[in-house]
Amino acid sequence: MKPKRGHSGYQHKKRFGQNFLNNQTIIDRIVMSIQPKPEQHLVEIGPGEAALTAPLLEVVRKLDIIEIDNDLIKPLTQRFSQNKAFHLHHHDALTFDYASLIEKSEEDEATPLRVVGNLPYNISSPLLFHLLNYAPLIRDMHFMLQKEVVDRMTAEPGSKTFGRLSVMIQYACQAEYLFTVGPANFTPPPKVDSAIVRLSPYPTKPFQATNEEAFGKLVKQAFSQKRKTLRNNLKGLLSSEQIEACGISPSDRAESIGVEGFVKLANLYQETL
Ligand code: SAM
Repeated sequence: MKPKRGHSGYQHKKRFGQNFLNNQTIIDRIVMSIQPKPEQHLVEIGPGEAALTAPLLEVVRKLDIIEIDNDLIKPLTQRFSQNKAFHLHHHDALTFDYASLIEKSEEDEATPLRVVGNLPYNISSPLLFHLLNYAPLIRDMHFMLQKEVVDRMTAEPGSKTFGRLSVMIQYACQAEYLFTVGPANFTPPPKVDSAIVRLSPYPTKPFQATNEEAFGKLVKQAFSQKRKTLRNNLKGLLSSEQIEACGISPSDRAESIGVEGFVKLANLYQETL
């Protein structure tokens, strides 16, 4: 067995979702899933005590790191400032401008950034939505999240876990569930299982909404009351006849239709505005 990590004496902060990876076998498995290459430009959100940062820095030409916790900035700088690939940003990942990381030489490459992170669970949904704004600049994202959230992101239509997050993520990205990570692999251990997800933004979306704001609004309203039918939840946006005109039964529930159906509904709604 490889040694456990995380015995530095650092006081973990709950408000920053600090559950640090302590198992080198899991860390190796995450890095193997990312498959970093020397010529690549990676971005890590929340390095903590560098469980993932250190092995990534051994490989890539550039690693931008975004960390909010003041107490982690000095140790990270002391340890890695000699490394040319290391670029630390003391910032909130929720408001960070990811476009600012693109170098002049990368401007004509469509999707240079590879984003990774064992994310603070308390901000995972708003962070994912913020990152989706930069999807055209991102090749892929590998994240550790609560297993329940990864289940929802990767759920198929018709399954119990299919919901608003599934539609919004799958509209923009291919989403793959990679593997589950149990609580004992973190210090301190979280209460729930975690999982690694790979999100690859589509260079060209398979189904394109004519107005993404209208799409987001319609999806939100379709899932607003779980037990209700589309006819009920979409009242005020689309009539039963309009839902039927999209080839969808108004008595279906939102969890039974996939991204394609939602895009059809949203595009019709947009036409009526
Ligand atoms: N990557 C380390 C590991 O795997 O052991 C630490 C992961 S820990 C779950 C989450 C990290 O994100 C912590 O370092 C925490 O301070 C940082 N963090 C929390 N909220 C943040 C935010 N809004 N912006 C940037 N970093 C944040």
